[in-house]
Amino acid sequence: MKEKKQSDVAVLLRYAGNYKGLTFLGLGLSAVAMVLGMAPYICIWLAARDLIAVAPNWTAATNIGTYGWMAFGFSFGGILVYFAALMCTHLSAFRTAANIRKQGVAHLMQTPLGFFDNNGSGLLRNRLDGGAGETETLLAHNLADIVGTAAMFIAMMVLMLVFDWRMGCACLLAALISVLAMFSMMGGKNAHLMMEYQQAQDVMSKAGTEYVRGIPVVKVFQQTVYSFKAFKAAIEDYSAKAERYTGGVCRVPQSVNLTCTEGVFIFLVPAVLLLAPSALAGDFAGFITNFAFYAVFSAIVSTALARIMFASAGTILAKNALARINTVMDAPTLPVTDAPQTPQDNGVTFEDVTFTYEGSNIPALDHVSFTVRPGETVALVGPSGGGKTTAASLIPRFWDVSSGAVLVGGVDVKDMDPHVLMDKVAFVFQNTRLFKTSILENVRAARPGATRDEVLDALHAAQCDDILTKLPHGIDTLIGSEGTYLSGGEQQRVALARAILKDAPIIVLDEATAFADPENEALIQKALKTLTEGRTVIMIAHRLSTVVGADRIVVLDNGRIVEEGTHEELSSGGGLYERMWKEYNQAVQWRIASVKEGA
Ligand code: ADP
Ligand code: MG
Repeated sequence: MKEKKQSDVAVLLRYAGNYKGLTFLGLGLSAVAMVLGMAPYICIWLAARDLIAVAPNWTAATNIGTYGWMAFGFSFGGILVYFAALMCTHLSAFRTAANIRKQGVAHLMQTPLGFFDNNGSGLLRNRLDGGAGETETLLAHNLADIVGTAAMFIAMMVLMLVFDWRMGCACLLAALISVLAMFSMMGGKNAHLMMEYQQAQDVMSKAGTEYVRGIPVVKVFQQTVYSFKAFKAAIEDYSAKAERYTGGVCRVPQSVNLTCTEGVFIFLVPAVLLLAPSALAGDFAGFITNFAFYAVFSAIVSTALARIMFASAGTILAKNALARINTVMDAPTLPVTDAPQTPQDNGVTFEDVTFTYEGSNIPALDHVSFTVRPGETVALVGPSGGGKTTAASLIPRFWDVSSGAVLVGGVDVKDMDPHVLMDKVAFVFQNTRLFKTSILENVRAARPGATRDEVLDALHAAQCDDILTKLPHGIDTLIGSEGTYLSGGEQQRVALARAILKDAPIIVLDEATAFADPENEALIQKALKTLTEGRTVIMIAHRLSTVVGADRIVVLDNGRIVEEGTHEELSSGGGLYERMWKEYNQAVQWRIASVKEGA
């Protein structure tokens, strides 16, 4: 356990780079500050000694003022040194957090794009940015406090035993009992109960989040909280476990712990009463002086114990933060070849490609082979879940194939410079995302060097003129602010403008018309025509009317190619495509019929 904690700190400090030394300096200063903070107690002892020596003639004690100023000096010095210590640890902690963020983002740049499908940007942000932020508590505060508390403990032990070891032991006995009580709550089989209790708390807070997300549904269907069985069960489970842990396990040890930490003198007073008779014979004034010292000094024990508790909470927090950071840092990266080859033409070939998503045991693509010659248009069709999107995402290496190969221009995509591959291929995907910036910048993302006129031309070719006239600042309108949101079909056209501007020889379209209403659809079809002219095209479409003109149609079902051919061949081939085509036409006729009836 201890080793693990240290290695967490060591791992975090690796990110600190040159600033690591500052952390150590800060820790050293923190220890010095704590020891300085103990010095006033010695001044109290000195003052008590002088006073008791001259009692009851108090005014004869002339050094009391000096001791007071010394105590003040030590306290104040301790505070100053502690400030300096925190200054050092903070500088290093902030640098560490910044380095974690930088290295994390740099690492994310190397991961395959598919990684972001399964790890949303919010999640990644929470892990990396949130995790990095949380390490600050440990590095800037807790670590300094841990080292400071250790120094404090050593100084405390010395002081405890140096004046009168018997009284010191009485104070330490109380501290020992409270530490034992504390551990009995967390150790042994109780550790298990504590973990169950914490897990129940986690489950409850997750169920609570689900519940809040589901509030619209609850309202619409006039449900009560009891319909959220999971949430209710989680609350009840938590309350049962909380009662069992706090009532069953913690009640006695926690009472003992608090009694001993808050009232350290419960052993001191009896000890002094026991020792007093024999002390009367010797140096009784010294004995009383020591008692005065321990009565005041024992208060420090509870401070020290409280600090240990806080500091250990911080290490747990940092451990969790580090675990989250590591999920980002350990994300697989896309292997980049050392000897990139240049693609020969603009064809795309799938050679016996099998691909299984991580965590799944059924292949999403199962021994798939087909070829798209330069300039050809090939359509991928088939039932939902057939593997069309998966096939499309293997071309830009969103994922890498499990076996087989995807070739672009005759070269395995794994043997290409990723930049060359990206320049060759343009994609328009189902869920287009526009950035929260102007339309100009959104489109220019495809080719950062493009001029404003080139962007305007691309938007014109993508039939976006109506969007530009509608928006308050035309091409410079910020999307997603000032109440300017584009409809699904409009976003899709902006995405097409992006692809047109990119001017790549190979185009991959995944259900580019899926979200379009009829008005948008006609415009999108026009834009698509401009985009695909004279290029190699792989298109996925569920409106079969759009694939009729394709050079070839590949029908994918359950990850396998079940048919391949032209529309003429397949529409009367007696297979899956013929069925799909008939169903599609029925749906279209039904629509026309219902429109006629309505008129
Ligand atoms: P289509 O585009 O033809 O509807 P997909 O290629 O999206 O089909 O999906 C093929 C199969 O792979 C489905 O069974 C789907 O559940 C699975 N799948 C798709 N994306 C992922 C993913 N990111 N992780 C795991 N499985 C996935
Ligand atoms: Mg799909």
